Amino acid sequence: MINDVIIIGGGASGMMAAITAASRNKKVTIIEHCEKTGKKILMTGNGKCNYSNTLQNVDCYRSSDDSFVNSVLEKFPQKDVTDFFLRNGIATKNRNGYLYPRSGQAAVISEFLREKCEHAGVNIICGLECKSIKCVNGIFSVKCRYMENGEKCVMSARSVIVSTGGMTYQKSGSDGSGYRILSELGHHIIKPLPALTPLHCKEKFFKALKGVRCDAKVSLYIDNKFTASDTGELQLTDYGVSGIPVFQISRYASRALDEGRKVTVDIDFVPEYDENTVGDILLSDNDLSISQTLNGIVNKKISQVILKITGISENMVSKKISTNDVRKIVRHLKSTKVTVTKTGGFEQAQVCCGGVSTDEIDSGTMQSKLIDNLFITGEVMDVDGICGGYNLQWAWSTGYIAGSNC
Ligand SMILES: Cc1cc2nc3c(=O)[nH]c(=O)nc-3n(C[C@H](O)[C@H](O)[C@H](O)COP(=O)(O)OP(=O)(O)OC[C@H]3O[C@@H](n4cnc5c(N)ncnc54)[C@H](O)[C@@H]3O)c2cc1C
Repeated sequence: MINDVIIIGGGASGMMAAITAASRNKKVTIIEHCEKTGKKILMTGNGKCNYSNTLQNVDCYRSSDDSFVNSVLEKFPQKDVTDFFLRNGIATKNRNGYLYPRSGQAAVISEFLREKCEHAGVNIICGLECKSIKCVNGIFSVKCRYMENGEKCVMSARSVIVSTGGMTYQKSGSDGSGYRILSELGHHIIKPLPALTPLHCKEKFFKALKGVRCDAKVSLYIDNKFTASDTGELQLTDYGVSGIPVFQISRYASRALDEGRKVTVDIDFVPEYDENTVGDILLSDNDLSISQTLNGIVNKKISQVILKITGISENMVSKKISTNDVRKIVRHLKSTKVTVTKTGGFEQAQVCCGGVSTDEIDSGTMQSKLIDNLFITGEVMDVDGICGGYNLQWAWSTGYIAGSNC
């Protein structure tokens, strides 16, 4: 029996593609090697599923071709995604532009997509892994293996959509096999690396900073050259830095580390004040110790680390402190430089950068430019979004386009 469409991977983009294709009366089968579909969706947005964002522009996505990204987002934009969910009874919660299902439960999205597939007649086969794909005379043979007993089978289809995701949080199913499968079909894969990940740093003082969360600006330097910066809630851990501003700059750090380049992060613990204002606060005319004065500006653990690094006694009375010592403290408050040694790896990253080159995919259809009727969706391609719902938006848009054209 020949399927119209086989979709490899029942994640966000695969299920969107399946629903769209089935609504066009296509006979669709999803092959999913996990025991159920949509496992990664459950993890998104801390279990709340930040499914998109009202702010959409090309700067929110990283790829080698901005026109590719624009063309995709125009065809199934955020508003269409929100309308699609609403039409199906899923209301939206808008938190400063970040969109979530109103119930605050990622499971609502994951279960809805699964049920919508089933109602549309999509044949979902879980526990079945795609090993390879071949196309002979316009018919695809999809070689598979049952996870439970290792038994092999071959399925046939006129079109195949590869929706296998990246290779982060591999327990959720995305184990990177899609890169191999597509590479065997002749596609060029830009080396996948972790993105939206914490950064491990060399400095020993991080042990003393563990658990601190503070508003800060982080600036990334590669080979001493400014590359990117972001401001927001910084999380300090015993191994380095984490939190949304770090995630936003991490994909550049990841690529640079992989290339063996020097990566540093400059932390500004008081981004809202300039150096003179911070100096004036430190020199305030009071009898407090410098450590007490500093504690009025930053978290106590940060104060202690800065005093230790600068060698200034924490009992020194603020108004008696020398101009030189004030300068030293201000420098560390405004610019503590740390050396990045590695990223959090695929285990801690939310998304992969790299993947199938967008030069080889038609942005109007998601069809491979190398093989007719082979389509590619979601994270497996070389486009990654910043934090804030952009990676799922990419999955919905690419899934919808592939499902409309397969
Ligand atoms: C912890 C975490 C939090 C996140 N939070 C957010 C968020 O709030 N907002 C946001 O926009 N993005 C978020 N993301 C990113 C987002 O989840 C992904 O970018 C998105 O799910 C990618 O969709 P996809 O369809 O490409 O792949 P996936 O959703 O990963 O689906 C791929 C599917 O393919 C299956 N599969 C893979 N290989 C095979 C094979 N060989 N045979 C059969 N099946 C296979 C997998 O089991 C999986 O079900 C988060 C990611 C993580 C890890």
